Amino acid sequence: MPDQQDISYIINHLGEDHASYFNAIAPPIIQTSNFVFETVDDLRKAFEDEMGGYLYSRGLNPTVDILRRKLAALDGAEDALVFNNGAAAIFAGVVANVKAGDHVLSVQHPYTWTAHLFDKILSRFGVTVTYADGSDTAAFLSHVKPNTTFIYLESPNSWWLDIQDLRAIADFAKPKGIVTMIDNTYCTPIYQRTIDFGIDIAMQTATKYIGGHSDTLGGVLTGSSEMMRKIFLSEYLCAGNGIQPFNAWLLLRGLRTLPARLDRITQSTLKVLEFLKTVPQVESLIFPLDSSFSQYELAKRQMKGASGLISFYIKAENIESIEKFCNSLKAFRMAVSWGGHESLIIPKCAGIKQSEFDVNNPTHRLIRLYIGLEEPDFLINDLSKGFSGV
Ligand SMILES: *Cc1c(COP(=O)(O)O)cnc(C)c1O
Repeated sequence: MPDQQDISYIINHLGEDHASYFNAIAPPIIQTSNFVFETVDDLRKAFEDEMGGYLYSRGLNPTVDILRRKLAALDGAEDALVFNNGAAAIFAGVVANVKAGDHVLSVQHPYTWTAHLFDKILSRFGVTVTYADGSDTAAFLSHVKPNTTFIYLESPNSWWLDIQDLRAIADFAKPKGIVTMIDNTYCTPIYQRTIDFGIDIAMQTATKYIGGHSDTLGGVLTGSSEMMRKIFLSEYLCAGNGIQPFNAWLLLRGLRTLPARLDRITQSTLKVLEFLKTVPQVESLIFPLDSSFSQYELAKRQMKGASGLISFYIKAENIESIEKFCNSLKAFRMAVSWGGHESLIIPKCAGIKQSEFDVNNPTHRLIRLYIGLEEPDFLINDLSKGFSGV
């Protein structure tokens, strides 16, 4: 019996039953909306427990289930649910666990659409939110109120790479019955198994590293069977935002090479990081596993690795020179998202009007790089040329 926790076993074997599909190595895409029943009693049983078998592909689907089992195991969780994208997974995980009158404590600067959910949607249903810096655990938790029922974390987040002490926060929340949820997209379970720290719901955007080829979207929640069942029977089925079989198949394919890609991306990122340290136009760098990182000790304790995102503050007198630098790059393409094969750049100043640029506001000079699968020298040469023009 192979070790059920072995990453290689999980990715290459777990959940696959070749005999049931002509001994094909690649699992089939079961592209069906519905499933047939021989007797009324069989159908009745399916209605009674939609999570117990296949009834309709808004619920469970066999292709999706292979992925689901692997993703649960990678996180060391009892179960998982796979969504059409990351935002849908966040939506379901949060909405399933809050009600009118509840208060949510969230880290500052969560993903854009997470903040939108809290500020623009849940506020209409009587749920309040406080955003706080999660780097000082005691200060963060001091915002918990008698009606706080949910704590939302993102560690690291995707621009400042802020991290939180996951075990300390879970230990605080559990006895109070406060549900904890984390966006673990940056690390994936390969670099950070958040359920092991006591977090109730781990979310990741499969669009990023699991897909890995910038050709599909997906989102994942993992947690206890009870929690996943609760979400499945309500928000998952009702919002109808589960992943479709073809996209699940693409994610299964991406998953095969996840550890190899992360390994390569990590090595390249470290090389680019060392290069950036020599560049006079780089004011300061943000990377969790660099000794200059403000939460370096915690990052080392909590994360097995760090991946392809590096942020840095560029020394620039005006917005034109930041734009000139970004526009001049050829190897780094300018786009949102990350986690694919291709290296990317995105400057914070793209989110403001040129006239609003304030050189004394460091955020306006923040740039995020994503390091993909290209040769590191190809990337470093490109950056080098770009900086020489600033
Ligand atoms: C991309 C991203 C999301 C949203 O995922 P989608 O698949 O685009 O919906 C959520 N959180 C983080 C940290 C992300 O990077």
